[in-house]
Amino acid sequence: MTPQREKIIHIFQNLPRGNHLSAEELHQLLENQGENISLSTIYRSVKLMTKMRILRELELAEGHKHYELNHPYPHHHHHIVCIQCNKTIEFQDDSILKHSLKQCQKERFQLIDCQLTVMTICQEAIEMGWPSILPSDWRCTRAISEGHHHTPTDLVDEEND
Ligand SMILES: [Zn+2]
Ligand SMILES: [Zn+2]
Repeated sequence: MTPQREKIIHIFQNLPRGNHLSAEELHQLLENQGENISLSTIYRSVKLMTKMRILRELELAEGHKHYELNHPYPHHHHHIVCIQCNKTIEFQDDSILKHSLKQCQKERFQLIDCQLTVMTICQEAIEMGWPSILPSDWRCTRAISEGHHHTPTDLVDEEND
């Protein structure tokens, strides 16, 4: 484990639960801590750490990769994503894993990860008149005020894994 990778893991460990970071956001957070790691090094590190199964790579928004700490199978969760503001909510549902396992066994594939991304429009975007009135770069107040998409704490509290 290189010091750089340790710093990256440290950032992810200290994120509020339910947060996901893009390589660019990770780069910004490291820079805020006074770390001078180039963006290209971060791209390479997160790719490698995904292969090593330390991080989990998610394509929550189109062409936009996010990362979170990888919790080994069978711990898993799924994502509800607003396609307008990228707000992301995590949820758990064992039946999705069970169905996936069954299909994998039938086809003789080995299941490594199970992640369902549900594309949605958040309530706030609908109330603001999505899609006709909203500009494409509109973000809901939560996304703006917190600088990133967070899991509402009421949903996190319901999880007891
Ligand atoms: Zn997640
Ligand atoms: Zn939204």
